[in-house]
Amino acid sequence: MLNEPIPFDPAHDLDALAASGALGGNVALFRQPRGRDLLRRAAPLEEWCALRARHGVWPYGRTLDGPPAPMATVEGDGLAARQGINFASQDYLSLAAHPAVLDAAMRVLAECGPHSAGSAILLGNSRYSGLLEEAIGALLACQHVTLFPTGWGAAFGAVTALVHGSDHVLIDALAHASLRQGAQAATRNVSAFRHNDCDHLRELLAGIRAVDAGGAILVVTEGLFSMDADSPDLPLMQYLCREYGATLLVDVAHDLGAMGPGGTGAIGAQGMLGRIDIVMGAFSKTFASNGGFVACLEPSVRRQLQLFAGPHMFSNALSPVQAATVLECLRIATSTEGERLRADLMRNAVELRALLHEEGMRCIGSASPIVPLLLGSESATRVAGMLLAREQVFVNPMEFPGVPLGAARLRLQLMARHTPAQIRTAARKLGAAVRRALEAPRPALRPSDQG
Ligand code: PMP
Repeated sequence: MLNEPIPFDPAHDLDALAASGALGGNVALFRQPRGRDLLRRAAPLEEWCALRARHGVWPYGRTLDGPPAPMATVEGDGLAARQGINFASQDYLSLAAHPAVLDAAMRVLAECGPHSAGSAILLGNSRYSGLLEEAIGALLACQHVTLFPTGWGAAFGAVTALVHGSDHVLIDALAHASLRQGAQAATRNVSAFRHNDCDHLRELLAGIRAVDAGGAILVVTEGLFSMDADSPDLPLMQYLCREYGATLLVDVAHDLGAMGPGGTGAIGAQGMLGRIDIVMGAFSKTFASNGGFVACLEPSVRRQLQLFAGPHMFSNALSPVQAATVLECLRIATSTEGERLRADLMRNAVELRALLHEEGMRCIGSASPIVPLLLGSESATRVAGMLLAREQVFVNPMEFPGVPLGAARLRLQLMARHTPAQIRTAARKLGAAVRRALEAPRPALRPSDQG
């Protein structure tokens, strides 16, 4: 707990909340504090976070008690309710508490112990990591797979290992921070194309090729965008890459396992299995474990990653327990049980979106495990998140740097095991909280709030 929360009665206290300053400002204002004292120059950030926490509008760094279930116990600053309907955890197919997954994890814990004993290149691999590489390669029809201890490391590692200073990266403007930071670390030649806009991508590709016939170009996008719940036209993107001698990388962190025929995600749904240059993903959304991978048809790319991707080479490998957990989740996700779980997940997504529409809300994107409610205003998003937590509905209020400034939203992540009753209750409470938050007094905008 950062601070003791101030008791709050939403019926009367929204004016006081607006006057407190806790609804103003944004993280961008504190990104680059000045002064030579590295230990103390972030003090204004600490004060701003503490102010927000005291007023119940700092929804980050909370603690989940127990597994990431649809009904969960959450502890955090200013949080009155402890038990609630949980849309703030990532476990799309509800596999984290699946008996077969727990059983596999416990068996391998007893067999191998709890940790990996080195980086993958130095005896950190296990029988289970080898089987996992094979299983991912088979699912994606992309046989050369490299594992990473986190999805973040897979994204950052892939881009930095493959791209050099004289190469180019063209990246979707809304791609995940792991990919953007990888691009920035790899080369100064980074341009963003408008979100899912293939015409803009073609324009940028042509512009580069007009002046640089020989440099490599990596085009980066996602199978399902984690804040927007939409997907690019993958066949067209891959075609454009071929036309301009570029390479396509698709991050399938949010769709692999959870969507598409047999759990093959957006790539399978768009008929592109085995036809995307490089596929990377994270296990943390659907496969009940930390970890990530990069898959490719070229064995030399795997070798390049093994030796030059920092998070693979210089970080301890996935543990055998993690590898066995993901392996078991993959087995379930690709079975008939997996089909049923995906159908339940999609039923929840369609139902929630329809009910929110009836409440007068607009969800962006399309039916998927991610349901984003775009509010725009940071202050309204903070108020809505706080009101919902008090009403025992946990969502993630997203603002900069998770999303652009002025594009704040509530993000809900669904699970196969959310019940229809939970979906109905949540939709009703979401409607009421969002209406209340949009009517609530706003802090006066100062020029400095623009970031
Ligand atoms: N890519 C995307 C699209 C993500 O959303 C995330 C996690 N939020 C990652 C990569 C990183 O994965 P992990 O958190 O498992 O390291």
